[in-house]
Amino acid sequence: MIITPDNLPEDHALQADIVIIGTGAGGAMAAARFASQGYKIIMLEEGPYVSKKDFTQEENTLVRKMYRRGGALATDDMSIRILQGKVFGGSTTINWMNSFRTPDDVLEEWSADFGLEEYLPSYMESHYQGIEERMSIHTVPEDQHSPQNLIILEAAEKMGIHGEACRNNSHGCIGCGKCGLGCAYDAKQDMRLTYLKDAQQYDCTIFTSTKATRIDYQDNNNQTIHATPQDGSERHVTITTQRTIVAGGAIMTPLLLQHSGLGTGGIVGKYLHLHPVLGSVGLYDREIYPTYGIPMSAYSHELKDITNGYGVWQEVPDLELFLAGVNMPGIGPRRKELMEQANRMGVILTLTRDGASGKSAGQVRWRRGLNPQNGHFALKKYPSITYRLDPLDKKHALMGLRQAIEMHFSAGATKVLPMHAHGFEITNDKQIDAFFQLPMGPNQLSIFSAHPTGSVRMGKDPKQTAVNECMELHHHPGVYVMDGSTLPTAPGVNPMVSILGAVSRAIELGNIGL
Ligand SMILES: Cc1cc2nc3c(=O)[nH]c(=O)nc-3n(C[C@H](O)[C@H](O)[C@H](O)COP(=O)(O)OP(=O)(O)OC[C@H]3O[C@@H](n4cnc5c(N)ncnc54)[C@H](O)[C@@H]3O)c2cc1C
Ligand code: SF4
Repeated sequence: MIITPDNLPEDHALQADIVIIGTGAGGAMAAARFASQGYKIIMLEEGPYVSKKDFTQEENTLVRKMYRRGGALATDDMSIRILQGKVFGGSTTINWMNSFRTPDDVLEEWSADFGLEEYLPSYMESHYQGIEERMSIHTVPEDQHSPQNLIILEAAEKMGIHGEACRNNSHGCIGCGKCGLGCAYDAKQDMRLTYLKDAQQYDCTIFTSTKATRIDYQDNNNQTIHATPQDGSERHVTITTQRTIVAGGAIMTPLLLQHSGLGTGGIVGKYLHLHPVLGSVGLYDREIYPTYGIPMSAYSHELKDITNGYGVWQEVPDLELFLAGVNMPGIGPRRKELMEQANRMGVILTLTRDGASGKSAGQVRWRRGLNPQNGHFALKKYPSITYRLDPLDKKHALMGLRQAIEMHFSAGATKVLPMHAHGFEITNDKQIDAFFQLPMGPNQLSIFSAHPTGSVRMGKDPKQTAVNECMELHHHPGVYVMDGSTLPTAPGVNPMVSILGAVSRAIELGNIGL
């Protein structure tokens, strides 16, 4: 059953066996599994309920409606924009469908460095198989690549480097190119159409536009969740429960835990990974129509292992014009001129598997003081995200950016514009070297992320990690975290299936004890 603020009675006091906060990848998987085991589940989702009739493909309305902070969430210094869904189905409702398993070497690293031998590839196989079946995950057929994706495949062939079709979670996709605004054709098999649907076959009530504001922890069998409908009213929802699962994503989950005084030990909020993305725009003398077609159907991982399994990979985006308009190089008339040539643009995204040095580069926490995002002095604490690209990750990212520029030229671009504040245009090899002499600090290179993970990381050692192998807080039994924040390292592939697989395995391992 779905409850929206419209059909919510006045102040509401409820009881559940398990409360799940967040309806994205992790929350949906947990709901489907536990509901089918006969538990009474209540889910809370801060974002609105949506179905295909809401997906009008109007960017202006839908980005504000379904993206956290209207798509403008960023690090404190505004140097990295972080795209996050705030909607029924979480980020999976607006994501670009790339569906890779966690690579075996990453699972082996989790075992070696975090004691997570339960997640070794042989144990994960059946979980991935089940997910792939439920979400119709398949390799994109050869004849369905858009011109923008063909840039990757053509360049890879000419340069003799890796290039391959991606796998995605679709059924009956017509390639309209609007995955980032929700699928109007119900072709994308996101959480709404898969695991949330499964959960609703059982005793699972989902409150949408309802934000969990605090978890009061009494003991491992008693917690009280406080929530408020997001309709501006003063109403209040209180739920008493025996188990709490926080699945708000790697930015919101640590903030809620910290605000509730949970997960002590100084780990919650640290080790945020972002898979930082650098973009390069190629201008072609043929039409590419980058806003059209299956968004992310080809990739190259030639440089995936530069240092000890850490490196970069190349993909193309679902080019919503809002994303393009904000990140394009140049300002004023120059930006306008560039945007007018959007139909001849092809964009390559260079994603970096961050964390090569093992240090914490990013952190999410509550802070007091001058809020750098709006210049106001915050008497109340504000949610802060800080991130500094580690020198080794930066080296990898720039190697990847160089490769992307070369790929553009190899596929026939006449000009390449890396997304740099200087608006540098490259038309020949010499200019590539000149470009890399430019300063490359924060707010010089345009960086964004759609893959925050790791901020409540999982592992056996309570001094190094926040949750155990069953995703239960080391310091607060009875409270679980089941979302991207638990991944011990950046997975090095687009993370949706990694999150689903890890949550599925944690539930199999864990004895929820009810
Ligand atoms: C634009 C975009 C494109 C992407 N493309 C891909 C792709 O192609 N392939 C891929 O593998 N991954 C992709 N991703 C990433 C992938 O979708 C996410 O990694 C995954 O969905 C994260 O799952 P999660 O459970 O951690 O959180 P989410 O899916 O983000 O869900 C968290 C949910 O919790 C809700 N929430 C948070 N706090 C509260 C609270 N206090 N109370 C109630 N509700 C709360 C949020 O509103 C949100 O709906 C993309 C992401 C974005 C944004
Ligand atoms: S590209 Fe396919 S899956 Fe994406 S929104 Fe269009 S029809 Fe749906």
